[in-house]
Amino acid sequence: MTNTISTRLLILGSGPAGLTAAIYAARAGMAPIVVQGIQPGGQMTTTTDVENYPGFRNVIQGPWLMEEMQAQAEHVGTKVVWDHITKVDLARRPFRLTGDGGTIYSADALIIATGAQAKWLGLPSEEHMKGKGASACATCDGFFYRGKKVAVIGGGNTAVEEAIYMTNHSQEVTLIHRRDSLRAEKILQDRLFANPHIQVIWNAEVAEFVSGGMPEALTGLALRDTQTGALRNIEVEGAFVAIGHSPATELFAGQLELDADGYIQVEVGTTRTNIPGVFACGDVMDKIYRQAVTAAGTGCMAALDAEKFLAAQEYEALAAE
Ligand code: FAD
Ligand code: NAP
Repeated sequence: MTNTISTRLLILGSGPAGLTAAIYAARAGMAPIVVQGIQPGGQMTTTTDVENYPGFRNVIQGPWLMEEMQAQAEHVGTKVVWDHITKVDLARRPFRLTGDGGTIYSADALIIATGAQAKWLGLPSEEHMKGKGASACATCDGFFYRGKKVAVIGGGNTAVEEAIYMTNHSQEVTLIHRRDSLRAEKILQDRLFANPHIQVIWNAEVAEFVSGGMPEALTGLALRDTQTGALRNIEVEGAFVAIGHSPATELFAGQLELDADGYIQVEVGTTRTNIPGVFACGDVMDKIYRQAVTAAGTGCMAALDAEKFLAAQEYEALAAE
């Protein structure tokens, strides 16, 4: 028999956006349900030191911060369920969503906080070497490369942080960037350049993940110079791809307005999507700031927008009686 769960407010995602929306919604008496998805706690669980989330003088850990957010959300009345939504029908009301195991969620209002997922380079050799030397998360997998030569690919905050982090495990870290300047914040760049265990290869892209041995393992990377096209090989046993993220919006394509990069479009200054009663917050609608604190901020906005929507709906229903 199909299990159906009905709620006034369903929140998809348990990163800073979803959990902050839940805290505000629960405190406003909306008894929200949060569907966690396959990454409980979201992207912050893939990092270690967090130094820029307000309220903490000392360095805190990303996974700890997310555990605290969830505990706070539950403490004020949120129900958190372990499920992953695979189907969404926003054309009918209440909205109808289907979980991985077949559970149906019926919701009067929906907050989408599904965040973003790591991008890969898209090379067949990269796909082949995933889990055998190619990774998209140094903080998750770095430990396995203790004492080995590793590379990090990318030039943003994530790549620079991952390169610095990898020096905890490795004396020889190479950052590979396709241009001649980094996108990362200056303070992170300063730390990177001051670190004697990191070298940077500029104007280079990965042409191939090179492997060998039995069992097969990564042995190096073939790099192509982005200016001359010249090829060279470097020896590494681990390669961390850190080239950004894609918004998790495939579920909503054709139902919600998305921008050219797949981010959910919201009305400026709000979290309202093109469908009344559907709100979006966090990295799934923000390709500029993409921070835990901004995700939390828009999560708060989404809960307030949802509260207003539900109150107006209930007022209309009463007036019609
Ligand atoms: P996410 O954190 O991406 O969470 C998305 C949630 O949606 C997850 O729980 C996932 O399981 C769920 N989900 C996805 N699809 C579904 C589905 N179909 N059904 C149900 N649930 C679903 N920011 C900082 O401010 N400070 C930092 O120090 C910092 N360090 C970072 C380090 C790394 C390595 C990375 C990758 C990011 C870092 N960021 C940092 C950025 C920050 O993590 C993100 O901006 C923030 O997590 C975005 O929050 P979010 O809630 O929008 O989405
Ligand atoms: P990002 O800022 O989008 O940077 C992606 C990097 O990868 C860029 O340098 C880009 O090169 C490069 N790149 C993209 N596609 C590539 C490809 N196909 N081949 C080779 N290189 C490629 O992504 P991010 O570093 O993951 O950061 C995402 C967001 O999270 C940002 O807003 C960031 O501020 C935030 N974040 C914050 C912190 C922090 O505050 N401490 C830490 C981590 C992340 P170009 O520069 O040439 O475009």
